[in-house]
Parts: sequence; C-alpha cells; structure tokens
Amino acid sequence: MTETNTNEMASESSTLPARTIPLDRLEMRRLVQLDACTRCGECLKWCPVYDQDSRENILPRQKILDFLRIVRSQQSILNTIIENKLAPELAKKWIRKIFRLQEISEDEVRLFALNLYECSTCGQCQVVCPANIDTVNLWENIRELMVSSGYGPLEPQKALAKSVKSYDNPWQQPRQGRVKWARRAKKENLISDLPPDVRKTSAKILLFLGCTAVYDSNIRQIAIDTVNMLKILGIDYGCLGENEKCCGSVLLRMGDPEYERIASDNIKLLNSLSIETLVTSCSGCFKTIKQDYPQVGKLKFEVLHTVEFLHRLIEQRKLKFDVPVEKVITYHDPCHLGRASGVFDEPRAVIRAIPGLELVEMPRHGPYSRCCGAGGGVKAGFPDLQNRMAQARIKEAEQTGAQELVSACPFCYAGLQVGIGALNSPLVMRDMTHLVISALKKGE
Ligand code: SF4
Ligand code: SF4
Repeated sequence: MTETNTNEMASESSTLPARTIPLDRLEMRRLVQLDACTRCGECLKWCPVYDQDSRENILPRQKILDFLRIVRSQQSILNTIIENKLAPELAKKWIRKIFRLQEISEDEVRLFALNLYECSTCGQCQVVCPANIDTVNLWENIRELMVSSGYGPLEPQKALAKSVKSYDNPWQQPRQGRVKWARRAKKENLISDLPPDVRKTSAKILLFLGCTAVYDSNIRQIAIDTVNMLKILGIDYGCLGENEKCCGSVLLRMGDPEYERIASDNIKLLNSLSIETLVTSCSGCFKTIKQDYPQVGKLKFEVLHTVEFLHRLIEQRKLKFDVPVEKVITYHDPCHLGRASGVFDEPRAVIRAIPGLELVEMPRHGPYSRCCGAGGGVKAGFPDLQNRMAQARIKEAEQTGAQELVSACPFCYAGLQVGIGALNSPLVMRDMTHLVISALKKGE
C-alpha cells in the first residue's frame, strides 16, 4: 500500500459495519461485465500501476471479485432481514454462519475504495482483456457508487474535486486567472495578439484551451504554441477566455456525479455558439467532450484534437512544412487520445510530414502505450506512485536514444516532466504543437 493513504486508513480504522453501496446507479451492462471476468490474469502483465505496486488487490480481476463480495453480502435478501432486525440476535448469528454471510466492515470498503482509486483509468486492461470488459467505464461507474455512499474520492483528491466545483478549474485558481497566461505572453511578445473572443467574431472554430495549459505556468507553452500555430496557418478561430470552464473530466474519472451538471452547462454554452468545430490540444478535454458529453446531451459541432485538425489540413494539402526539424524524437500516446479515442495514426502522420524529424517508437506504443500515471486522480491521490510510473515511461523513452519526448496532452506533459525531473533525464519534453511551430517558423 502506498504513502499517505496507508496512514489515513490506519488512523480511521473501523470494524463497524459499512454503509451499503447503492447499486441503483450501476448500469445493467456493468453487471454483465462484472460476471464476464474469467480471472485469466492477462491484465496483470500490462497494468502500469501493478508494475509499481505489486499488490494483487489493485488488479482488475481482484477489484471485480472484491466488489462482488461486498455487494453480494450487503445486498443479500438474508442480510436485509438481518439488518432490518426481523430476526432475534442469536438467529442473525446463525443465519450468517449457515449462509456464510460476511458482515462487511468500514475498513474493508475503505480498503476497496483505496484499491479502486489506485488506478489511472488508462484503459490498458481493457485493450488486453480477452473477455473485452469495458474496464474504464466499469471503474468510473463503481467510483460513482463509492462517492454516493461516502467512500470516494480519497481524502487527497477532495481538494481537486472541490476546486472544479467552486472555481471551474482543478487548480484552485480564480476564474479571472484563466486569461492571465495570454496577457503575460503578449507582454513578453510570445504571442502577437490576445486570442479573439469567439462570441465577437464569425469564427466557426472554437479553440478550447483546457485548464492545465492556461493555469500551469510550466505548461503554458502548449497554449502559446497552439495560438501561434493557428495564427501562422491563418485559421479564423476564437476562444471563450474567462468564460471557458473545466470540462469536468477529473470529476467524471473520480466518480463525482457533479460532472453531469458541469457537462450539461458546458454543452448548453458550447451549443449556443455558432461554431462548427471545437479544437483542443488537451487529450483529456478531447475525450471528455467528444465521447462523454454526448451521453449527457447532443453536441451541435464536431470535436477534433489538434493533431486531427493538423492531419486534416495536411490531407487537404492546405498544410506543408518547409522548415526541417533535425531531431530524433519518440512519441508518447496519451491514454485519452490513443487507447480511449483510437487516434494513433494522425500524430504520427503529422510527425512524418515534418522534414528532418526522425521518430523512434518505444516498444510500448499505440494501444500498448505505458501510462504516465497523471490521470484518473492518481497524481492527486498517489503522487509517489505517479512519480514512479512516469519514471518507468521516461526510462523506456531514454532507451530509444531520442533527444525529445513528444506527446499531445498538457496532462501527460506535466506527468512525464515529473519523471524527467526525478531521473534527471537529458530528455526534453515537448508537445506536438511545439514541433509544428518549429516546422513553421525559422529559428525555433
Ligand atoms: S484480463 Fe479481463 S478477464 Fe482476464 S482477469 Fe483481467 S479483467 Fe478478468
Ligand atoms: S485502467 Fe490502467 S491502471 Fe487501471 S487497472 Fe486497468 S491497466 Fe491498471
């Protein structure tokens, strides 16, 4: 077991009966999936968390078994009789013994919650699972049940969730701070103009910047490069500025039902714009808006990741790179862009279109890309684990001999930087937008 959570468990240790996990929010298909696990153990070989913390209890098959054991015991009709005190004390004891009914304690459920949250929802287990279990949605759905019964999210993750609800961003920053990066970048001559307000232009393209690139000063380069790239390409676009709000991904991944309100508000706001396309450089925002929002409400526009947008321009012969970028790079597929959305070819096609650039793949790439550990609430809940996961990825990247590690997500950027720092690695972290800017502008 890892770090602070162990202490948290110990200090709040309780053998009292656990609160009942409500099953009313569990989708029917999840019940079928829970039953489909054959305990084959294939997920064991691939889980990036298990690589760093080899406890059987965090593995998909064990989490499924533990969840079933808890809910079977709590939801059994016999247990209902016992709990409703319809039987005398002695009879209750015997009913439990004869039917081997376990009383589920607070400690057991808390430990299960801890194991459930020690997962970056990277989706690797889903890719390798021979029973084709949709594990990511399963974990997120079970996390929802844990939140509604008061067992989730974990204590260190609560600030993140509270910040999204109070400030519309996960970084506990004021709403007005959302445009600070642009004002500062303009002052420093890193961008020529402030991004136009989409509601004051006739632009059909909305650039959705996402919270990480605008609030984290170490990551703002992604916002700067994306804006400069669109300017150089002559794209008529606009942004929402202070009115952009967190997409809610972090709440969804941690099982917080407040996500639905955020998604619904965002859908209304985005649908009210006269845009045809939403473009984002954040893989988390991309996956959430493109795949998860339609479960909440219909979108009136298409959603593209920047790499797809660039790829489309290349295909339409509207974009050609003239400036060679003489570098050896390796590419890290973000979980939300790659495994979750199937966008593997487009970033590679953009890389291939840049003259001079040499791509060396890591052994684990594409659908088998090793997660950096930043997502799913792991960075907030288990920072040491995330650090080790990032280091494992950086070691793989170093073995390719590449000078730069390139990705297409501000969250991965931040997550992988942790590994680069911990290992004092000579690798330079880059976002795809930086490569593109380098191939468009001389002297970058
Ligand atoms: S790979 Fe799938 S079927 Fe096999 S143990 Fe893991 S979750 Fe169960
Ligand atoms: S989603 Fe990723 S981290 Fe979570 S159990 Fe599956 S492989 Fe492990």
